[in-house]
Amino acid sequence: MFDILSIIPGKKKTTSSGWISFNAVCCGHHGHKADRRMRGGIKFDGNNWVYHCFNCGYSCAFTLGRSINTKTTKLLQWCGIDPEQIQRWSLESLQRKDLLDFTHTRKHKSKITFKEHNMPAEAVLIGTTNPEHQTYVDYLLKRNIKPDEYPFMITPTMRGRYRNRIIVPYTYKNKIVGQTSRFLDDLTPKYLNEQQPGYVFGFDFQKHDWQVCIVVEGIFDALSINGCALTHNTISEEQALLLAQLNRRIIVVPDRDLTGMEICDRALELGYSVSLPDWAPHIKDVNDAVIEYGRLPTLLSILEAATMSKIRIEIQRTKIVKRLQKGS
Ligand SMILES: [Zn+2]
Repeated sequence: MFDILSIIPGKKKTTSSGWISFNAVCCGHHGHKADRRMRGGIKFDGNNWVYHCFNCGYSCAFTLGRSINTKTTKLLQWCGIDPEQIQRWSLESLQRKDLLDFTHTRKHKSKITFKEHNMPAEAVLIGTTNPEHQTYVDYLLKRNIKPDEYPFMITPTMRGRYRNRIIVPYTYKNKIVGQTSRFLDDLTPKYLNEQQPGYVFGFDFQKHDWQVCIVVEGIFDALSINGCALTHNTISEEQALLLAQLNRRIIVVPDRDLTGMEICDRALELGYSVSLPDWAPHIKDVNDAVIEYGRLPTLLSILEAATMSKIRIEIQRTKIVKRLQKGS
Protein backbone atom coordinates (compact mmCIF):
# COMPACT_ATOMS: atom_id res chain seq x y z
CA MET A 1 0.00 0.00 0.00
CA PHE A 2 1.13 3.60 -0.50
CA ASP A 3 3.00 5.60 2.11
CA ILE A 4 1.11 8.84 2.66
CA LEU A 5 4.02 10.55 4.40
CA SER A 6 6.26 10.19 1.37
CA ILE A 7 3.46 11.51 -0.86
CA ILE A 8 2.88 14.71 1.08
CA PRO A 9 5.65 17.10 0.09
CA GLY A 10 7.87 19.09 2.42
CA LYS A 11 9.27 18.93 5.92
CA LYS A 12 7.47 16.98 8.63
CA LYS A 13 7.68 16.93 12.37
CA THR A 14 6.06 14.76 15.01
CA THR A 15 4.22 16.51 17.80
CA SER A 16 3.90 15.24 21.35
CA SER A 17 0.22 14.47 20.76
CA GLY A 18 1.10 12.00 18.01
CA TRP A 19 0.27 14.20 15.00
CA ILE A 20 2.77 14.43 12.19
CA SER A 21 2.59 18.00 11.00
CA PHE A 22 3.59 19.70 7.75
CA ASN A 23 2.44 22.54 5.54
CA ALA A 24 -1.13 21.61 4.60
CA VAL A 25 -1.77 20.86 0.94
CA CYS A 26 -5.50 21.61 0.99
CA CYS A 27 -6.04 25.30 1.81
CA GLY A 28 -5.18 26.92 -1.54
CA HIS A 29 -7.67 24.64 -3.29
CA HIS A 30 -10.71 26.16 -1.68
CA GLY A 31 -10.14 29.83 -1.23
CA HIS A 32 -7.81 29.87 1.76
CA LYS A 33 -4.29 31.22 1.88
CA ALA A 34 -1.63 28.57 1.46
CA ASP A 35 -0.40 27.22 4.79
CA ARG A 36 3.15 28.14 5.82
CA ARG A 37 2.88 27.28 9.51
CA MET A 38 2.75 23.49 9.31
CA ARG A 39 -0.90 23.31 10.20
CA GLY A 40 -1.65 20.12 8.28
CA GLY A 41 -1.53 16.90 10.28
CA ILE A 42 -1.66 13.15 9.87
CA LYS A 43 -2.34 10.75 12.69
CA PHE A 44 -1.82 7.00 12.33
CA ASP A 45 -3.61 4.11 13.90
CA GLY A 46 -1.79 1.04 12.60
CA ASN A 47 -2.29 0.98 8.83
CA ASN A 48 -4.98 3.64 8.98
CA TRP A 49 -4.68 7.39 9.20
CA VAL A 50 -6.62 10.62 9.39
CA TYR A 51 -5.67 13.91 7.80
CA HIS A 52 -6.72 17.16 9.37
CA CYS A 53 -5.92 20.75 8.46
CA PHE A 54 -5.86 23.15 11.40
CA ASN A 55 -5.79 26.04 8.93
CA CYS A 56 -8.81 25.56 6.63
CA GLY A 57 -10.46 22.66 8.45
CA TYR A 58 -10.28 20.10 5.64
CA SER A 59 -10.20 16.53 6.86
CA CYS A 60 -10.27 13.05 5.40
CA ALA A 61 -9.18 9.54 6.31
CA PHE A 62 -7.86 6.28 4.97
CA THR A 63 -8.77 2.84 6.28
CA LEU A 64 -7.05 -0.24 4.88
CA GLY A 65 -9.84 -2.55 3.68
CA ARG A 66 -12.09 0.28 2.50
CA SER A 67 -12.06 2.08 -0.83
CA ILE A 68 -10.55 5.56 -1.06
CA ASN A 69 -13.39 8.09 -0.83
CA THR A 70 -13.81 11.41 -2.66
CA LYS A 71 -12.24 13.60 0.02
CA THR A 72 -9.14 11.43 0.34
CA THR A 73 -8.92 11.18 -3.45
CA LYS A 74 -8.84 14.99 -3.59
CA LEU A 75 -6.04 15.13 -1.04
CA LEU A 76 -3.96 12.63 -3.03
CA GLN A 77 -4.60 14.56 -6.24
CA TRP A 78 -3.45 17.79 -4.60
CA CYS A 79 -0.21 15.94 -3.81
CA GLY A 80 0.19 15.22 -7.52
CA ILE A 81 -1.02 11.61 -7.70
CA ASP A 82 -2.97 10.83 -10.84
CA PRO A 83 -6.56 9.53 -10.58
CA GLU A 84 -5.81 6.15 -12.15
CA GLN A 85 -3.16 5.44 -9.56
CA ILE A 86 -5.58 6.39 -6.80
CA GLN A 87 -8.14 4.04 -8.31
CA ARG A 88 -5.63 1.18 -8.23
CA TRP A 89 -4.76 1.86 -4.58
CA SER A 90 -8.43 1.96 -3.79
CA LEU A 91 -8.93 -1.51 -5.27
CA GLU A 92 -5.83 -2.78 -3.54
CA SER A 93 -7.21 -1.52 -0.26
CA LEU A 94 -10.58 -3.17 -0.85
CA GLN A 95 -8.80 -6.49 -1.36
CA ARG A 96 -7.66 -6.25 2.26
CA LYS A 97 -11.20 -6.44 3.58
CA ASP A 98 -10.13 -9.24 5.94
CA LEU A 99 -8.00 -6.70 7.76
CA LEU A 100 -11.05 -4.59 8.38
CA ASP A 101 -12.85 -7.33 10.29
CA PHE A 102 -9.64 -7.87 12.09
CA THR A 103 -9.29 -4.27 13.30
CA HIS A 104 -12.93 -4.55 14.26
CA THR A 105 -12.37 -7.59 16.49
CA ARG A 106 -9.33 -5.86 17.88
CA LYS A 107 -11.53 -3.15 19.32
CA HIS A 108 -13.75 -5.70 20.99
CA LYS A 109 -11.04 -7.86 22.47
CA SER A 110 -8.30 -5.36 23.09
CA LYS A 111 -7.27 -6.93 26.38
CA ILE A 112 -5.07 -9.94 25.77
CA THR A 113 -4.14 -11.90 28.86
CA PHE A 114 -2.33 -15.13 29.59
CA LYS A 115 -2.53 -17.27 32.71
CA GLU A 116 0.58 -17.45 34.87
CA HIS A 117 2.61 -20.60 34.47
CA ASN A 118 4.54 -22.49 37.15
CA MET A 119 8.04 -23.58 36.25
CA PRO A 120 9.00 -27.10 37.35
CA ALA A 121 10.06 -27.17 41.02
CA GLU A 122 13.41 -28.74 40.04
CA ALA A 123 14.29 -25.96 37.57
CA VAL A 124 17.39 -23.86 38.25
CA LEU A 125 18.90 -21.01 36.28
CA ILE A 126 21.91 -21.82 34.13
CA GLY A 127 25.04 -20.62 35.87
CA THR A 128 27.62 -19.46 33.37
CA THR A 129 30.48 -20.15 35.81
CA ASN A 130 29.15 -23.44 37.15
CA PRO A 131 31.26 -26.27 35.66
CA GLU A 132 28.32 -28.67 35.98
CA HIS A 133 26.32 -26.46 33.66
CA GLN A 134 29.00 -26.34 30.96
CA THR A 135 27.15 -28.62 28.50
CA TYR A 136 24.16 -26.28 28.51
CA VAL A 137 26.29 -23.15 28.27
CA ASP A 138 28.19 -24.69 25.34
CA TYR A 139 24.97 -25.55 23.55
CA LEU A 140 23.77 -21.93 23.73
CA LEU A 141 27.14 -20.52 22.72
CA LYS A 142 27.22 -22.87 19.74
CA ARG A 143 23.95 -21.26 18.66
CA ASN A 144 25.47 -17.82 19.15
CA ILE A 145 23.22 -17.04 22.11
CA LYS A 146 24.62 -15.54 25.30
CA PRO A 147 23.61 -17.78 28.23
CA ASP A 148 23.18 -14.82 30.58
CA GLU A 149 21.01 -12.79 28.20
CA TYR A 150 17.84 -14.68 29.05
CA PRO A 151 16.72 -16.66 32.16
CA PHE A 152 17.40 -20.11 30.68
CA MET A 153 16.68 -22.93 33.11
CA ILE A 154 17.65 -26.58 33.44
CA THR A 155 16.46 -29.56 35.47
CA PRO A 156 19.64 -31.63 35.95
CA THR A 157 18.21 -33.48 38.96
CA MET A 158 15.26 -34.90 37.01
CA ARG A 159 15.27 -38.33 35.38
CA GLY A 160 15.57 -39.42 31.78
CA ARG A 161 15.41 -36.84 29.00
CA TYR A 162 14.50 -34.10 31.43
CA ARG A 163 18.02 -33.85 32.82
CA ASN A 164 19.25 -33.10 29.36
CA ARG A 165 17.19 -30.10 28.34
CA ILE A 166 17.24 -26.32 28.37
CA ILE A 167 13.99 -24.68 29.40
CA VAL A 168 13.16 -21.34 27.87
CA PRO A 169 10.51 -19.62 30.00
CA TYR A 170 7.83 -17.83 27.99
CA THR A 171 7.25 -14.36 29.36
CA TYR A 172 4.58 -11.82 28.60
CA LYS A 173 4.73 -8.39 30.20
CA ASN A 174 7.40 -9.81 32.52
CA LYS A 175 5.28 -12.65 33.85
CA ILE A 176 6.00 -16.30 33.10
CA VAL A 177 3.11 -17.66 31.04
CA GLY A 178 4.57 -20.84 29.54
CA GLN A 179 7.77 -22.60 28.59
CA THR A 180 9.46 -24.67 25.98
CA SER A 181 12.02 -27.39 26.53
CA ARG A 182 14.80 -27.98 24.03
CA PHE A 183 16.14 -31.50 24.55
CA LEU A 184 19.85 -31.83 23.91
CA ASP A 185 19.79 -35.54 23.02
CA ASP A 186 19.14 -36.57 19.44
CA LEU A 187 15.68 -37.97 20.06
CA THR A 188 12.38 -36.59 18.86
CA PRO A 189 10.53 -34.49 19.67
CA LYS A 190 13.29 -31.94 20.00
CA TYR A 191 10.96 -29.46 21.65
CA LEU A 192 8.20 -29.74 24.19
CA ASN A 193 6.00 -26.64 24.27
CA GLU A 194 3.67 -25.52 27.01
CA GLN A 195 2.13 -22.59 25.24
CA GLN A 196 -1.18 -20.77 25.53
CA PRO A 197 -3.17 -20.02 22.36
CA GLY A 198 -2.24 -16.71 20.82
CA TYR A 199 1.09 -16.45 22.56
CA VAL A 200 4.01 -14.92 20.68
CA PHE A 201 7.48 -15.43 22.12
CA GLY A 202 9.70 -12.36 22.36
CA PHE A 203 6.93 -9.79 22.79
CA ASP A 204 8.84 -8.48 25.82
CA PHE A 205 12.01 -7.94 23.75
CA GLN A 206 10.25 -5.36 21.56
CA LYS A 207 11.29 -1.87 22.63
CA HIS A 208 8.84 0.98 22.68
CA ASP A 209 10.68 3.07 20.07
CA TRP A 210 11.47 0.31 17.56
CA GLN A 211 9.81 0.79 14.19
CA VAL A 212 10.05 -2.80 13.08
CA CYS A 213 9.30 -6.18 14.60
CA ILE A 214 10.93 -9.21 13.00
CA VAL A 215 8.81 -12.34 13.27
CA VAL A 216 10.41 -15.76 12.92
CA GLU A 217 9.33 -19.36 13.46
CA GLY A 218 11.69 -20.66 16.14
CA ILE A 219 12.59 -19.61 19.68
CA PHE A 220 16.34 -19.60 19.02
CA ASP A 221 15.84 -17.57 15.86
CA ALA A 222 13.98 -14.97 17.92
CA LEU A 223 16.56 -15.04 20.71
CA SER A 224 19.41 -14.45 18.30
CA ILE A 225 17.98 -11.18 16.92
CA ASN A 226 15.49 -10.03 19.61
CA GLY A 227 12.62 -10.91 17.33
CA CYS A 228 9.27 -12.54 17.96
CA ALA A 229 8.70 -16.28 17.45
CA LEU A 230 5.47 -17.91 16.37
CA THR A 231 6.83 -21.37 17.38
CA HIS A 232 5.08 -22.94 14.40
CA ASN A 233 4.75 -22.22 10.71
CA THR A 234 1.40 -20.45 10.75
CA ILE A 235 0.21 -17.13 12.13
CA SER A 236 -2.96 -17.64 14.14
CA GLU A 237 -5.66 -15.00 14.34
CA GLU A 238 -4.90 -14.48 18.04
CA GLN A 239 -1.19 -14.08 17.38
CA ALA A 240 -1.99 -11.47 14.74
CA LEU A 241 -4.05 -9.58 17.33
CA LEU A 242 -1.13 -9.58 19.73
CA LEU A 243 1.33 -8.43 17.06
CA ALA A 244 -1.08 -5.66 16.04
CA GLN A 245 -0.67 -4.18 19.52
CA LEU A 246 2.95 -3.39 18.71
CA ASN A 247 1.67 -0.92 16.13
CA ARG A 248 4.68 -1.14 13.83
CA ARG A 249 5.91 -2.73 10.64
CA ILE A 250 6.02 -6.52 10.91
CA ILE A 251 8.58 -8.42 8.85
CA VAL A 252 8.17 -12.18 8.67
CA VAL A 253 11.29 -14.24 7.99
CA PRO A 254 10.17 -17.80 7.22
CA ASP A 255 12.36 -20.88 7.60
CA ARG A 256 13.89 -22.14 4.36
CA ASP A 257 11.73 -25.23 4.07
CA LEU A 258 8.56 -25.99 2.17
CA THR A 259 6.21 -25.21 5.08
CA GLY A 260 8.10 -22.01 5.75
CA MET A 261 7.37 -20.95 2.19
CA GLU A 262 3.62 -21.27 2.84
CA ILE A 263 3.69 -18.71 5.62
CA CYS A 264 4.47 -15.98 3.06
CA ASP A 265 0.89 -15.86 1.76
CA ARG A 266 -0.55 -15.63 5.24
CA ALA A 267 1.88 -12.83 6.10
CA LEU A 268 0.85 -10.77 3.05
CA GLU A 269 -2.80 -11.37 3.83
CA LEU A 270 -2.22 -9.78 7.24
CA GLY A 271 -0.48 -6.76 5.72
CA TYR A 272 3.00 -7.80 6.88
CA SER A 273 6.23 -7.65 4.91
CA VAL A 274 8.13 -10.81 4.09
CA SER A 275 11.90 -11.11 3.92
CA LEU A 276 13.75 -13.90 2.10
CA PRO A 277 17.37 -12.67 2.04
CA ASP A 278 19.85 -14.17 -0.39
CA TRP A 279 21.60 -16.39 2.14
CA ALA A 280 23.86 -19.33 1.28
CA PRO A 281 21.98 -22.59 0.50
CA HIS A 282 22.96 -24.29 3.77
CA ILE A 283 21.41 -21.49 5.88
CA LYS A 284 18.00 -22.76 6.95
CA ASP A 285 16.83 -20.14 9.41
CA VAL A 286 17.71 -16.88 11.13
CA ASN A 287 19.77 -18.60 13.82
CA ASP A 288 21.91 -20.29 11.14
CA ALA A 289 22.40 -16.92 9.48
CA VAL A 290 23.48 -15.28 12.74
CA ILE A 291 26.00 -18.08 13.35
CA GLU A 292 27.34 -17.70 9.81
CA TYR A 293 27.25 -13.93 9.24
CA GLY A 294 26.83 -12.38 12.70
CA ARG A 295 23.87 -10.56 14.20
CA LEU A 296 24.14 -7.16 12.55
CA PRO A 297 24.77 -8.34 8.97
CA THR A 298 21.85 -10.77 9.37
CA LEU A 299 19.56 -7.99 10.56
CA LEU A 300 20.63 -5.72 7.72
CA SER A 301 20.04 -8.42 5.12
CA ILE A 302 16.56 -9.02 6.57
CA LEU A 303 15.66 -5.33 6.42
CA GLU A 304 17.06 -4.97 2.93
CA ALA A 305 15.12 -7.92 1.51
CA ALA A 306 11.83 -7.04 3.27
CA THR A 307 8.99 -6.40 0.84
CA MET A 308 5.23 -6.43 0.52
CA SER A 309 5.46 -7.08 -3.20
CA LYS A 310 3.89 -10.41 -4.08
CA ILE A 311 5.99 -10.65 -7.22
CA ARG A 312 9.31 -10.13 -5.48
CA ILE A 313 8.42 -12.68 -2.82
CA GLU A 314 7.28 -15.15 -5.48
CA ILE A 315 10.61 -14.86 -7.31
CA GLN A 316 12.64 -15.48 -4.14
CA ARG A 317 10.32 -18.25 -3.06
CA THR A 318 10.56 -20.09 -6.37
CA LYS A 319 14.33 -19.90 -6.16
CA ILE A 320 14.38 -21.39 -2.67
CA VAL A 321 11.82 -24.11 -3.46
CA LYS A 322 13.84 -25.17 -6.53
CA ARG A 323 16.92 -25.41 -4.38
CA LEU A 324 15.06 -27.46 -1.77
CA GLN A 325 13.74 -29.86 -4.39
CA LYS A 326 17.18 -30.29 -5.91
CA GLY A 327 18.63 -30.98 -2.49
CA SER A 328 16.13 -33.67 -1.57
ZN1 LIG B 1 -6.05 23.40 4.65
